[in-house]
Amino acid sequence: MTLGVILAFLLGLIFGSFGTVAAHRIPRRETIVTGRSKCPNCGRQIKAHENVPIVSYIVLRGRCPGCGTRISLRYPLTELATGVLFALAVVKFEVTVTAVVYAAFFWVLVVLTVIDLEHKLLPNRIVYPTFVAGWAGIVVADLVDGDAGRLRSAALGAVVFGGFFFVVAFIYPAGMGGGDVKLAFVLGTFVGYAGGVGAVLAGMFASFLLGGVIGIIAMKVSGKGRKTQIPFGPFLALGSVIAVFLGERIAEGYVDFL
Ligand SMILES: [Zn+2]
Repeated sequence: MTLGVILAFLLGLIFGSFGTVAAHRIPRRETIVTGRSKCPNCGRQIKAHENVPIVSYIVLRGRCPGCGTRISLRYPLTELATGVLFALAVVKFEVTVTAVVYAAFFWVLVVLTVIDLEHKLLPNRIVYPTFVAGWAGIVVADLVDGDAGRLRSAALGAVVFGGFFFVVAFIYPAGMGGGDVKLAFVLGTFVGYAGGVGAVLAGMFASFLLGGVIGIIAMKVSGKGRKTQIPFGPFLALGSVIAVFLGERIAEGYVDFL
């Protein structure tokens, strides 16, 4: 374990903490730049030393010091997930511009996952800027870290992933939200740049597999059957993260298998 990986993990914890704030405020159209966080139950301001990622949750035993209300496990889990993803970005891409770009991408995916689970929506105000900033990011990464041909894979990935979802939404509008389609263009870009079109196909497959399996479980657990509302965004995000790291290998394994 290198120092870079450890620092990335710690940085990820901090960004994860900021991510929980962003995920709470963006759908409510509040500013994410200013204003201290408050307990949603009693309105007590969260002090700086109570806002240390994961540590504070453990020290406070998962309760608000003001009113004793349970703090959602979502907060430490979001922080931990972001920390792990930042660390993995450095494991895969080492200390490079590419790693920074992918860490930022993962951060957005974490925020979108939390929002989609709570509100069943993927805000345009996040997805559109991510597409633009994402392309700017990979172009810079390509110039600095250099790997000819990968920008073409990113463009092809966006067309394959986004195009497929666009067609599915066109044929079967009830099955796929517009936010999912827009996000798919972003996901195809990043997965394509990291691992090529094979990885994009692996990511799409992983998304549907995870969504299908967990969807069936959720239907059984909720007892509402087919009326169970399950957002697809989190599965797209998870499938794409898997594809960034393992997609190329999965695709090669599949070709070997044939
Ligand atoms: Zn409270």
